[in-house]
Amino acid sequence: MRGLLLLLALAIQPGFAGEPPQAAHVALYVQFDQTPPAAVMDSLRSELDSIMDPIGLRFEWRPLADSSPEATAELAVVTFKGRCDATSLPPHRTNPGALGWTHISDGIILPFTDLDCGGLRAFLGEQLLALPRGDRDGALGRALGRVLAHELYHIFANTTRHASDGVGKPTYSVEELLSAGFRFAKREALALRLR
Ligand SMILES: [Zn+2]
Repeated sequence: MRGLLLLLALAIQPGFAGEPPQAAHVALYVQFDQTPPAAVMDSLRSELDSIMDPIGLRFEWRPLADSSPEATAELAVVTFKGRCDATSLPPHRTNPGALGWTHISDGIILPFTDLDCGGLRAFLGEQLLALPRGDRDGALGRALGRVLAHELYHIFANTTRHASDGVGKPTYSVEELLSAGFRFAKREALALRLR
């Protein structure tokens, strides 16, 4: 899979090494081309939480449609493109290019991210079909959570840089997206904590 372009920004938070980070609450305004099944959403949210909770970022999900975003709060707007379910999966893998991207304007990272659900289905379809039917939505949601965490890293660490390991890498393999555990490497986790 090709690189996910991303960006972000943060506020300095004092603290000592080893001290649990004080949680920052972020409003996540979301919109979908097609509403995903509950099993995909549950898995997506729980994967994002398990990646970001230890770093001190907590997300409140709100539908963009019936929200008026508060200008003062930390927030990001996430648009899910294409189909986000695990039915009628493509049987052969195609490389979809970027699976997620964050908007940049004049070098400034903006809190707007797009995720390509359809591209993720094309990339993972062959391996998802090899899973029991009841596990496919969960696996797709977990992979989506990892791509979303990557984009949120760009936004909240306010960086276009990538890592050599972990969720901050510019490209992921199918195995990484479907593995049991995939997290940020130390350096990117620290950048998020100290944002
Ligand atoms: Zn990226």
